[in-house]
Amino acid sequence: MATPSFQIATIKGDGIGIDVADATLAVIEAAQSRVGGFSLNYQEILAGAGYYRETGLDIEPDGEKMAGVADAIFLGAIGLPSVRYEDGTEIAPHLRLRDIFQLYAGIRPIKAYPNAPQRLADERAAAIDMIILRESTEGLFYSAAVHNRCPVENDAEVQDTLRITRKTTEKLHDFAFNLARKRKEKGTKGIVTCVDKANVFKSMAFFRKIFDERSRAFPDIEKGYNYVDAQALDLIRKPWDFDVLVMENMFGDILSDLAGGLVGGMGMAACGEIGDNHGLFQPAHGTAPDIMGQDKANPLAAILSGSLMLDYLADKAGSQALSDAADVISDAIQSGFSKNSIRPAEFGGDMGTKAVTQEIIRHIQS
Ligand code: ATP
Repeated sequence: MATPSFQIATIKGDGIGIDVADATLAVIEAAQSRVGGFSLNYQEILAGAGYYRETGLDIEPDGEKMAGVADAIFLGAIGLPSVRYEDGTEIAPHLRLRDIFQLYAGIRPIKAYPNAPQRLADERAAAIDMIILRESTEGLFYSAAVHNRCPVENDAEVQDTLRITRKTTEKLHDFAFNLARKRKEKGTKGIVTCVDKANVFKSMAFFRKIFDERSRAFPDIEKGYNYVDAQALDLIRKPWDFDVLVMENMFGDILSDLAGGLVGGMGMAACGEIGDNHGLFQPAHGTAPDIMGQDKANPLAAILSGSLMLDYLADKAGSQALSDAADVISDAIQSGFSKNSIRPAEFGGDMGTKAVTQEIIRHIQS
């Protein structure tokens, strides 16, 4: 039987995006050699602030098309404060990709690793392991993106729209329950918590109603509810109790940063953005101009995003080999932290981007 082969579009971008993307591709190659049974072909797409400065374009002419035909897109990070569009905003072609490909399911894993910073003194903090699932195409960001920009009227009043559609919300909740089911098979709790403000807003009551409707198809998964303000409190009081948290765009934006802060810095914040036919994977951090070119970036957020990408491809293709490769990477990170052999400079450790990457590769090969 022919080895299954996948096309990956890579956008390395700017600043530390380039370093962490290179680190991720090296780690994926090590996992691929270890596990075997699939091949990945990369096609690089030129995009970002540096590219814009040289060409006046934020992505190469066929870039969106190339991203669209790939099986997955991997992105380092894009943007430099000194390079801007004419309207003064920073270069961000990836936000357009999110919109074009309708990448509604934003996955942010939040997991505590031994010897990595833990902000809570309670020993149960070592058990934090949850996913914040942030709807990423509508909610309160709907009017912030390409749609529906209302002007400020008479310098006196302005409105933004919070949009919830049945079509996207059904898919989002199904995604949440399927994710909880998959995680439960690997030993997590199997709970989806709907985070909303259904006591106040019609949009949020609708979000919760659809949550209840879709939950009926997943009787094996426990369901819970929390108002977003109470959820913020509970993320500090008892974050170890949660598994999958599903919410609209703006709530997810805020709570994923809060939750990320419980288990380390930006260098641990992985992200996957998934739609019906496309998936884009990138660290949640930016290009970090303050540390670029110094080998100081923690590559783990990007590498964990690479592992999410392999998992996504595994589901798409029904491939055990890809799923094993994703596990090999997350196991190497877990084991490296347990042995205290991964000590990123980001947390005051003695290892830069290259050293952390080499250590993970060593764990994968051993
Ligand atoms: P954006 O708006 O694109 O997210 P930003 O400037 O708000 O960009 P980042 O580029 O993520 O945010 O940087 C925020 C801070 O976190 C900076 O001090 C940066 O050095 C640090 N940082 C971000 N990513 C990493 C990383 N991978 N390793 C170490 N430090 C990082």
